[in-house]
Amino acid sequence: MFSKILIANRGEIALRVLRACREMGIKTVAVHSTADADAMHVRLADEAVCIGPPSSRDSYLNVAAILSAATITGAEAIHPGYGFLSENAEFAETVEEHGIAFIGPTAEHIRMMGDKITAKTTMEALGVPLVPGSDGALRSLDEAREVAARVGYPVLIKAAAGGGGRGMKVAQTADELEEAWSVARTEARAAFGNDEVYLEKYLDKPRHIELQIMGDTHGNVVHFGERDCSLQRRHQKLLEEAGSPVITPEQRNEIGKTVTDALSRMGYRNAGTLEFLYQDGQFCFIEMNTRLQVEHPVTEMVCDVDLVREQIRVAAGEKLSYRQEDIVMNGHAIECRINAEDPETFAPNPGTVKVFHAPGGLGVRMDSALFAGYRVPPYYDSMIAKLIVHAPTRALAISRMQRALTECVVEGVKTVIPLHQKILADPEFQKGEYTIHWLENFVAKLQ
Ligand code: ADP
Repeated sequence: MFSKILIANRGEIALRVLRACREMGIKTVAVHSTADADAMHVRLADEAVCIGPPSSRDSYLNVAAILSAATITGAEAIHPGYGFLSENAEFAETVEEHGIAFIGPTAEHIRMMGDKITAKTTMEALGVPLVPGSDGALRSLDEAREVAARVGYPVLIKAAAGGGGRGMKVAQTADELEEAWSVARTEARAAFGNDEVYLEKYLDKPRHIELQIMGDTHGNVVHFGERDCSLQRRHQKLLEEAGSPVITPEQRNEIGKTVTDALSRMGYRNAGTLEFLYQDGQFCFIEMNTRLQVEHPVTEMVCDVDLVREQIRVAAGEKLSYRQEDIVMNGHAIECRINAEDPETFAPNPGTVKVFHAPGGLGVRMDSALFAGYRVPPYYDSMIAKLIVHAPTRALAISRMQRALTECVVEGVKTVIPLHQKILADPEFQKGEYTIHWLENFVAKLQ
């Protein structure tokens, strides 16, 4: 096992990794920008190294500074968290070239899944069901027209290098296709320097359901069931649940087997998530994330596992601690992302947190790096905490979350807590009747 790990991230996820390390008796090295000098992950780590000025490009994305920090402190492994360098294949490669273990998949698999066209063709060949659409990249507008006519309108033009919902355009009818094609390509070129696009049938009422998987270097791959992440605004998830209110244990086992078979044939190692759109009883793969996800705690609560500990163990060459039959989903978990944003306009609201009180009690978990006096910096993501609850049933999890949110006190910055309270009180939400469009409509009705 490693004796020292460098955590190449900040905020709650840096703390999350730190906590797993501490429980495993592993020393931690925090890295931080000058804006984060007094951050909680820095205070709690065994050692800390400043890696640059506030801007992420010069600090949390600064590969040379992070590698130097690992080398000077003698860290044997790097955990990238999520975001920043976590899905950067070159970073993973460089880390390993320096004789340091990358706590994640191989650079080859990160690269493969980073290109959504390669990801889809790879998964298709391995027997994973896809959204109907083009067979790889579109070579011309004429080809787009042919494929759209075959799969039927509406269709979506998507960037191969896409992320964060950018470079994605819907064409409702054939008349709109030319514009969607050119806008998606222009956006993709501007955002990713790559204007390769593909086409998918646009599903009108899908849910976003994803499967958590984990592989080791001995050929074992297991899944930890699904998460329902349909509640999104501008393609950003806001509230997640495990399991999904609409998936039966039989469906879970079936898609779980398809996915674990596919990934063990790939030789996939470490944590990963396969994202699907689910509609009319069908799972359609859209992309794979080759890292730990923000919403991983809901899975941890229902499966009673420590996914970060498992990531570290398999990165050190150990076997997975679980066989598929050991993994049982128990009860229901919900996560609310608490962002420092205006709950009506969603404008980021950085500032100093004057008062902070974390909720507690039975089945409540708060993953956050907040403390009273903390200045939420304007340079990074606005998520300041994740509140997670676990209860025997979904209905009890909803009341537990409502109760926990009323206990949560954050003064000094606005947060989206009032919006979460409205969602949780909504009868449709309570019945579990929602699709990926539900939250946008709900928010529009409030305004
Ligand atoms: P990104 O990597 O940019 O987040 P994804 O492929 O994961 O892109 O898609 C983001 C979101 O866009 C999905 O969660 C879903 O809400 C919506 N979406 C993607 N593909 C489709 C589709 N074929 N039909 C309907 N909605 C889609």
